[in-house]
Amino acid sequence: EKWVYDFAEGSKDMRDLLGGKGANVAEMTRVLGADRVPAGFTITTEACVAYMNAGQHEPEDMADQVAEALERLQEHTGKLLGDDADPLLVSVRSGARESMPGMLDTVLNLGLNDTSVEGLAKATENERFAWDSYRRFVQMFGNVSRGIDGEAFEKEISNIKSDAGVEEDTDLDVAALKTLTDRFKALYEKHTGEKFPQDPKEQLRLAIRAVFDSWTGDRAEAYRRINHIPDDWGTAVNVQQMVFGNKGDTSGSGVAFSRDEVTGAPEPSGDFLPNAQGEDVVSGARTPRDIREMKEWLPDAHAQLMDILRTLEKHYGDMQDTEFTVEEGQLYMLQTRNAKRPAQAAVRFARDAVDEELLDREQALMTIDAEMLTALLVQTFDPNADYEVISKGVPAAPGGAKGEVVFTAAEAVEAAAENPPRAVVLVRPDTNANDVAGFHAAKGILTSLGGKASHAALVARGMGVPCVTAASGLKINLEERVIRVGDHVIKAGDFIAINGTTGEITLDDIPLVDPTEDPAFDEILEAFETVLGWADDIRRLGIRANADTPHDADKARELGAEGIGLCRTEHMFMAEDRQPKMRTMIMADTRDSRRDALAELLPLQQEDFEGLFEAMKGLPVTIRLLDPPLHEFLPDLPDLAAQVERARIELTDDLETLEKLLVTTERISEENPMLGTRGCRLGILYPEIYEMQVHAIFRAAKAMDEPPHPEIMIPLVDYEQELEIMRELVVRIGEEEGLHEVEDYTVGTMIELPRACFVADRIAKFADFFSFGTNDLTQTALGFSRDDVESKFVPAYMERKIIDRSPFETIDKPGVGWLVRLAAWVGRESRPDLKLGICGEHGGDPDSIEFFHMAGLDYVSCSPFRVPIARVAAAQAAI
Ligand code: PEP
Ligand code: MG
Repeated sequence: EKWVYDFAEGSKDMRDLLGGKGANVAEMTRVLGADRVPAGFTITTEACVAYMNAGQHEPEDMADQVAEALERLQEHTGKLLGDDADPLLVSVRSGARESMPGMLDTVLNLGLNDTSVEGLAKATENERFAWDSYRRFVQMFGNVSRGIDGEAFEKEISNIKSDAGVEEDTDLDVAALKTLTDRFKALYEKHTGEKFPQDPKEQLRLAIRAVFDSWTGDRAEAYRRINHIPDDWGTAVNVQQMVFGNKGDTSGSGVAFSRDEVTGAPEPSGDFLPNAQGEDVVSGARTPRDIREMKEWLPDAHAQLMDILRTLEKHYGDMQDTEFTVEEGQLYMLQTRNAKRPAQAAVRFARDAVDEELLDREQALMTIDAEMLTALLVQTFDPNADYEVISKGVPAAPGGAKGEVVFTAAEAVEAAAENPPRAVVLVRPDTNANDVAGFHAAKGILTSLGGKASHAALVARGMGVPCVTAASGLKINLEERVIRVGDHVIKAGDFIAINGTTGEITLDDIPLVDPTEDPAFDEILEAFETVLGWADDIRRLGIRANADTPHDADKARELGAEGIGLCRTEHMFMAEDRQPKMRTMIMADTRDSRRDALAELLPLQQEDFEGLFEAMKGLPVTIRLLDPPLHEFLPDLPDLAAQVERARIELTDDLETLEKLLVTTERISEENPMLGTRGCRLGILYPEIYEMQVHAIFRAAKAMDEPPHPEIMIPLVDYEQELEIMRELVVRIGEEEGLHEVEDYTVGTMIELPRACFVADRIAKFADFFSFGTNDLTQTALGFSRDDVESKFVPAYMERKIIDRSPFETIDKPGVGWLVRLAAWVGRESRPDLKLGICGEHGGDPDSIEFFHMAGLDYVSCSPFRVPIARVAAAQAAI
């Protein structure tokens, strides 16, 4: 088997085998020529995988192949590794398929020992340079290959600087560097019980092993989990001839981007340091200089670099992030890769690249990470801020928020009403419909339970309020009003900040950046609009929003939604003035008294729908009839029991009402309410509730100047008979109101139970449309409680690699996804014009959107703030 490839053999298409760096260096050698890129070879990711699988043993003939490649490299450079006259030195760098910045190990200056250092000094006529290189090598090798703490080396450097009375590393003279190298070697021996290895080939063998081993290090594992990189990829190892940026004043090292990496502005940016090696530029030990200043320092190298950046950008068709070294005036390119960039730079680059005819629209769209785009719409943590993360949860709604801790929605409302308003973060184990007022008032929401599809997540996302859920490291004690996290005890009123984009929680006061305050905001917005316009031309999927209020509907429309795909009507009954009416309705003993209570709710509902129709003029509005179990509108049973107890002792006036409430609450309470009397089951048992809602919809429709497009949706259907009955109800009310099916409204159903997927052909006979409720479908197909699992076992499942991501965040393609495909297929078999949408939280997830595109759905519906993401993701799916 071939484990080793020379740079000259590879190309950018061999990323899986050679890793990103190896493939790019090979490609760069092709594009820029062998003089610009120091020569070398790559040991494949497959070799790393074989090494890991064999319990840290190199595959059989790898050593021989490395030896042969080294021979070729020596021949090419005309130098010998570790020679005592003019030695070849190499760097040994990791390089996974996807870059994992700083997570894997690197060793530089390999090949130096007690004799070759003298050879290097003679050949370069630069003794200081030689010793500086040697001490760096001992330091890095000791750290990377033997795990000696970097601090220990840094301490020796500080000591020797203060002994010598100098400030900068570069001011240390040869004698000082020799002493330093001796001390480093002593440190190595003390730590490992072995002498520092003098045989360059042994050094190389150990360094390659160290890079392989770094793949399974804690740091790298943690990074992979967060970034969903599979463990079995392994890393390649790149062995490359060293060129030296620390050879004096006409040498240096730097990083350069083909465009500004923060704003995306079309001017190259970057940093460099004269007389330095690469790690000095990134380590922060010395303050680097702006790349524009390089023009004065080394005009030729600067001009060449600018030229190369353009060439590479053109070749790769994307913004490049490069590393370079100048050795005595000669420019070398060490690596290049597509630049990571924040949202504003991503849209700016995409727009400019098309203007400059570097890319066409489709190619430009593919350079954007859709998930990141919400950063353009919400406040975020200052990307340059350093902070201590005390715990992490599920990033449920993006953006940064900070303020005082409050534990109840009422406190949040109070704080917001003060003058000036106090910024608060609402912290709760979980939230329910009663807390919704607090969502509006709080800057952010933090819960220890729940997950991506829990109540807090849905509502926060819909409102654009940053939210972190499932922060299971937080022990929230509502009685004591404290949160315990590790050693921290956080009380009500204490400061807290949450990052809903990453799930991080901190006690540090992080500056928040508001995208609209960016001086370039208009420019960014314009670029964003342009890019979204292309996305709209290219995508096939329609994009709707989940919105329950005119306010959310307006926002959704502004962000490009083409209708409402889900209005959850239960949210309309949570308002304070409606709850008592709702309770009276639920507590009614007879159908007539229930009808009376409903009659009071009807005009309020009608108003709600008029607001929505107005906001969505000309566009479809899917209204789902009441779905949640009724107990959600009643107080908690234990609280209520205690209240009744107290009222009995004190004989208060409300005793009778409370007792009645208790009886009702007990009567309707269920062991598994999410599998209980909810959805269309309510409609079957209490048709008067649905009748009221349908009347309200139709009367609202009639009250509009321009006829709206209501789509009435029946939730949680299992049996086609359920839909048949509910449909008859709707049509009957329609006749009473003088409205006609198809012409004035349509009737459809949510498909959110596995049975419904299997019998979708039967259900389709009574449906104008299906909307997949992938939250409940995931819950019922996997048997995973959507409100619990993400704070309970899902983290362990990710750790054990059973799953990469929560199934409530991204669609479980083989399981739930298969049910969706099946239902779409058989549904359309029985009714070819059946309209198909999805309105679970997956409707805003780019990977899921790609799947829904492939599955042939007509539209996705997501929370308003995710509409732009969905537009771009839908276009990417179509490209
Ligand atoms: C769903 O189940 O996916 C859905 C959209 O409905 P809800 O989240 O309101 O249950
Ligand atoms: Mg549902």
